[in-house]
Amino acid sequence: MSNMGRKEKLRISAIVFTAYGGGASSCECGGTALEFLTLHHRGGWRPDRRTPNKAWQFRVWLYRHHERHGVWLWTEHLETMCHCCNTGKGADAASSDPEADLAARAARAVAEGRLGPPADGERRCLTCGGAWPENDVEFPINKTYKGRRYFKSHCRPCYNANEVLEERRLLAEVRRLLGGANPACECCGRTDRLATHWRDGLDGGQGTRKDGKKLYRLILRTPDAVSRWGIMCHNCNCALRDFGECPHRR
Ligand SMILES: [Zn+2]
Ligand SMILES: [Zn+2]
Ligand SMILES: [Zn+2]
Ligand SMILES: [Zn+2]
Repeated sequence: MSNMGRKEKLRISAIVFTAYGGGASSCECGGTALEFLTLHHRGGWRPDRRTPNKAWQFRVWLYRHHERHGVWLWTEHLETMCHCCNTGKGADAASSDPEADLAARAARAVAEGRLGPPADGERRCLTCGGAWPENDVEFPINKTYKGRRYFKSHCRPCYNANEVLEERRLLAEVRRLLGGANPACECCGRTDRLATHWRDGLDGGQGTRKDGKKLYRLILRTPDAVSRWGIMCHNCNCALRDFGECPHRR
């Protein structure tokens, strides 16, 4: 798929984005550059049959299905949108304030007198003092060794909130390192919906790349990080990744 020519990629993109954009290949924000567009999955919907994982290959799959059967699948679940707006939707849908969430649960634990050592047959969360039945599958498992389960010290909601906080902390550090006090897209200057951009290896090998916390930790411990990574908004970053060139540079 990656050796499909740029022209052919753009031709297929235009057809698919028009089909899922209500007759026009554009985002609700008004953006029309094909290199910036993607398919938004409404409400985190996932296809019920085996389809390619990568966004680009999924689009080609939809295109070929239409060629063969004459129908565009899942038009009620898919919507043409630019990468920046699509990322925004995801971020807005995610739990927005894990810190307040944690504090509220800890305060409730104190009010209800749930702090203290666990009673027999129960497990206590170190963050919120919540008591859980021992071996409750909802309590996060650290590892399983020789058939025995070893649990983490936090209940699932606290564990998840901590993970989100840790990821945000690392991302803020990465942005400071690569983009200074006021990080902005290196290409278009946009200051929101920022992604981290890999300067080398722009196409191929995306699947093997680290992302999220693993990528941020790698960046923070790489001495010449500033020459290897940069800050770009999702639109410019994805255009460069998928087409080797951003429309802003034309
Ligand atoms: Zn948009
Ligand atoms: Zn907890
Ligand atoms: Zn940009
Ligand atoms: Zn750009």
